[in-house]
Amino acid sequence: MPEATTIHVRFPDGREETFTTATLARDALDRFNPGAVGSVLAALWNGVPVDLAFRLPSDGSLAPITFEDRVGRDILQHSSAHLVAKGLVETIPDARPTHGPPTDDGFYYDFDVRPLVPADLDAVRAAMDRSVRAKDRFVRREITRAEAQALFSKNPHKLRYISDIPEGELVSVYDTGSFTDLCRGPHVPSTEWLQGVHILGFSAIAPEDPTAPALQRVRGVGFPTRAQLDQYLKMRAEAEARDHRVLGTKLELFTFVDEAPGFPIWLPNGMVVVHELERFVREHLEAAGYQEIRTPLLFAQSVYETSGHWEHYREDMFLSEVEGRTFGWKPMNCPGSMLIFRSRARSYRELPMRLAEFAPLHRFEASGTLHGLTRVREFVQDDAHIFVTEEQAEPEIRTLLDWIERAFSTFRLEWSCELSTRPAKFLGEKEVWDKAEATLERVLKASGVKYRVSPGEGGFYAPKIDIHIRDSLGRPWQTGTIQLDYQMPLRFGLAYQGPDGQLHTPVVVHRTILGTWERFFGVLLEHVAGRLPPWLAPLQVRVLPVTDRHSAAAHGLVEELKARRLRAEASSTEESLSKRVRNAEIERVPYVVVLGDKEVAEGSVALRVRGSKENRPLSRPEFIAYVHDRVTKREFDP
Ligand SMILES: [Zn+2]
Ligand SMILES: [Zn+2]
Repeated sequence: MPEATTIHVRFPDGREETFTTATLARDALDRFNPGAVGSVLAALWNGVPVDLAFRLPSDGSLAPITFEDRVGRDILQHSSAHLVAKGLVETIPDARPTHGPPTDDGFYYDFDVRPLVPADLDAVRAAMDRSVRAKDRFVRREITRAEAQALFSKNPHKLRYISDIPEGELVSVYDTGSFTDLCRGPHVPSTEWLQGVHILGFSAIAPEDPTAPALQRVRGVGFPTRAQLDQYLKMRAEAEARDHRVLGTKLELFTFVDEAPGFPIWLPNGMVVVHELERFVREHLEAAGYQEIRTPLLFAQSVYETSGHWEHYREDMFLSEVEGRTFGWKPMNCPGSMLIFRSRARSYRELPMRLAEFAPLHRFEASGTLHGLTRVREFVQDDAHIFVTEEQAEPEIRTLLDWIERAFSTFRLEWSCELSTRPAKFLGEKEVWDKAEATLERVLKASGVKYRVSPGEGGFYAPKIDIHIRDSLGRPWQTGTIQLDYQMPLRFGLAYQGPDGQLHTPVVVHRTILGTWERFFGVLLEHVAGRLPPWLAPLQVRVLPVTDRHSAAAHGLVEELKARRLRAEASSTEESLSKRVRNAEIERVPYVVVLGDKEVAEGSVALRVRGSKENRPLSRPEFIAYVHDRVTKREFDP
């Protein structure tokens, strides 16, 4: 054992403390923030995640990791996968675990085992409960390759992973009670952390080697407490009830067919919503000095070589051969806007030049990742490219933040920003990236909006501000993005004549705010559980005559509403009134009015606002003015 020497450890707040070598990360963190220790599940040592039982070897930096951190969430998911493997091996001793990574929404573990049946999972759950109650510790051991090969001699999958580890390197394994798994780690300290682990289901999956038998995948999700799990399961049930794919069919908004996977088919009701969204955005564009353009869906390969997409984005593009030349379906609108700017000589007097385009874009998404409207292969964005001088970039981005606030508050969506900086693969000079990143951060700081920084997550040509929204179930979604780009104007050779008579290169702000209509619409439908605000509802008013006697008056009212550009229809009287009221509720029609003897005689209506059981008497002019006001102001009603 080497003699303990003094080491210096730096904490996230900049404080430095001295310890002796081999101090546990847990003990050092306890001194950093004694109150927080119960919520710390692992540690970050010089930027690398390690167990709390890790022994500090030298000077370095140390930070706590909690479940709130992305990496902490992943560590807990992955530790949960170990717990499932432990339970499954105890249930079926000849099962061979393969691997069990965290995913975006939980974890899975794949097993080489006979086909599972539901009763197996009950036994696995019971075994997991026992382990949680026993508070089994995750204990790391480092062994030689030969020892590892002996330990996993009956599991060809683990032997294959071991053979991938460089010769001479030690192999780490983790013991959890009587169960041992090959793993790099880190993990939570013990199974006591895994009280909120839940198995969601299992399915057979094809192995990487097509001649091998199918593997059995067990999927699950983990939380540090039972209460957090219960909250999640409740929300999941609520999310299922308002799944936009189900609502889309029920409300006849959009559909999909097997012959065009990932390509949405918009039905007449859905197109009404899309047009209203476009109208909302276009009103802003006009007021803010944008001009609308339309550029081709297909460009020859050379255009993408210039833009950099050919090198960095080709795998995500659809390609077509036309008369022996390769064309790409545009995945983004940028190239067309660049060509328009370059189409003639430009002067500084034309800047900022704001070009908006609502063209269909195509991106190749693997079929396994497609999901309703939220992940599609064809979509339209509220996209624009703003050509500015370097000095104009900052004020221009500031005004964008104002529009973001107005846009999302219209939909009652909370929003925040994420600043994504230079990735490993990037175009251009490091110094230019630093300048662009600094500009974006200055705007964010000055505006006071909520934001966080994601190092290395920028696009290949520019740093960006990603816009995230939170829906009524508290789920986060990414919508729009603002990118400050110095590269593409250079690559396309763009120039404008400055006041000095010299040619200068403009800077481009790429920006989309709502993101894609498709995704935004899918999120919005779930956010409001299908109860679109009246201005977006495909049908705004349904007039219900009590009997045939009242039909003429009902049609008269519909005509008056239509004259005010409101979307209204009168129902027939074949079904009972109560049935028709119920149908309108199911179809989420915002305003339902009933016309009977009394109303026809008085020139009034009985208004039922969606979600309410009350009939409110209003004169016809009052009613029309009320609906017109709610719709034109884009107000919400229940
Ligand atoms: Zn592990
Ligand atoms: Zn762009």
